[in-house]
Amino acid sequence: MSQAPALSLDVALVGGGIMSATLGTFLQQVEPSWSIGLFENLDRAGLESSDPWNNAGTGHSALCELNYAPAAADGSVDPKKSLGINEQFQLSRQFFSWAVTNGLVKDPQSFIHPLPHMSFVIGEDHQRYLKTRYESLSANPLFASMEYTEDRDQIGDWTPLVGEGRTQKTVAASRVKDGTDVDFGSLTRQLVDGLGAKGADIRFRHRVTNLTKTANGWQLEVKNQGTGETFAVDAKFVFVGAGGGALPLLQKSGIDEAKGYGGFPVSGEFLRCTNNEVIARHEAKVYGQASVGAPPMSVPHLDTRYVGGKKALMFGPYGGFSPKFLKTGKLWDLPASVRGNNLLPMLAVAKDNLDLVKYLVTELLKTRNQQMNAMRDYYPAANAEDWELITAGQRVQVIKKDPKKKGVLQFGTEVIAAGDGTIAGLLGASPGASTATPIMLGLLQRCFPSKYAGWEDTLKAMVPTLGHTLNDEPDLYAETKAVTDKVLKLA
Ligand SMILES: Cc1cc2nc3c(=O)[nH]c(=O)nc-3n(C[C@H](O)[C@H](O)[C@H](O)COP(=O)(O)OP(=O)(O)OC[C@H]3O[C@@H](n4cnc5c(N)ncnc54)[C@H](O)[C@@H]3O)c2cc1C
Repeated sequence: MSQAPALSLDVALVGGGIMSATLGTFLQQVEPSWSIGLFENLDRAGLESSDPWNNAGTGHSALCELNYAPAAADGSVDPKKSLGINEQFQLSRQFFSWAVTNGLVKDPQSFIHPLPHMSFVIGEDHQRYLKTRYESLSANPLFASMEYTEDRDQIGDWTPLVGEGRTQKTVAASRVKDGTDVDFGSLTRQLVDGLGAKGADIRFRHRVTNLTKTANGWQLEVKNQGTGETFAVDAKFVFVGAGGGALPLLQKSGIDEAKGYGGFPVSGEFLRCTNNEVIARHEAKVYGQASVGAPPMSVPHLDTRYVGGKKALMFGPYGGFSPKFLKTGKLWDLPASVRGNNLLPMLAVAKDNLDLVKYLVTELLKTRNQQMNAMRDYYPAANAEDWELITAGQRVQVIKKDPKKKGVLQFGTEVIAAGDGTIAGLLGASPGASTATPIMLGLLQRCFPSKYAGWEDTLKAMVPTLGHTLNDEPDLYAETKAVTDKVLKLA
């Protein structure tokens, strides 16, 4: 039953991460007269998964992440998935560039830095795979600048920490110089500030505790965490951009489209370097191969980061398990998410993913010595005293119904939207923040089908190659990349 609302909005954004920030920015441009409210449980925007210490900051464009180019049974590598990820990041780069040009972000170096993306492997099988991947990808305009080597000295030139003290002879690496490191937390906060400056009602320390369908949209129950007061907010459209908190809220909404979905939380830890001399000697994101059973996004990487303008160096992630759905969540998040409609898919996933369970248990039991040894595959001369352990964000992987297997675990993201388009939410976390732009553009098209055509010109002013496939239009790719490189100070 609905109460008299304290606030009536056109759009309510639940959560202040990169997804809500991106969607809100698009909506404010296409419908400047719409009233927008954003409710964030924590003190500031971008403090959960979008925070720079909670994710790896890779501008995912499949330049170095081997999980986006798996080998087929015959050893061949199909470039399709990598091309798709790269195409998506081109849209994000254009959106970032628009945000800088339009003054929403003052200085691009507050959130994005150019950084070589490398893949590094050890052993004959992996070397063969990396060469095949290089041949398959570099034949495409989007990957034409990829380099490949099996020469240890060359690898040492590209990245001294990876070469130094290395004894294995059979190694290989690929490199694309124009990858990026992105501080999604800084970007999120600047976009949310921009929303507020243009009239959106931004409420930090406000938690959305329930959602009820009304005749004109939805009524949200919102709790002010400072005063303890609870009030009602009416909204014609709701985006549940609550990250790991999205599944419980979508379940509360009762929409049919959310039924059958479950979540499997995977936590991560990184080792962070405390030695400035070591940090200064590395300038790349170096990704390797995932261990057997590891979820695809858990591939180890030795990573330069730029956080708050300061250079950092991380290695990880080490997988872990916590039943929380957010880093600031509750231990009962996982059990509380079990429903009659998702129990079967969840049990099926538990039965079919023993490799993953084994991987997580092994990771949890790793001693610091074993963690350091894992790093030494990438940085053989690493000294344990130079590294401290930090806990990263929570990822809630999507569990969904499957006609054959009853339930499957999915590592991508999925937009759940009600058939009438009045509510949508995002589940899953990979490739994540890097794809916020294309995901939110897709959401606009899906939830506002009758308005989208009228919005297209405005959207194309923000993301000029919307609707194009840049790999098929190399001149357009070169032209737009030159513009974004200049605006974002990447060249
Ligand atoms: C270890 C790790 C590494 C990653 N590495 C990368 C990477 O290298 N590159 C990349 O592109 N992506 C990466 N990702 C994924 C990326 O971080 C996420 O996809 C992205 O940040 C999700 O953004 P979001 O806005 O959906 O969620 P979040 O940033 O988590 O924001 C959700 C917000 O909702 C708030 N909230 C939750 N419930 C409520 C409620 N009931 N009421 C009000 N507010 C609520 C939370 O406090 C939070 O601020 C990584 C993720 C992890 C965990």
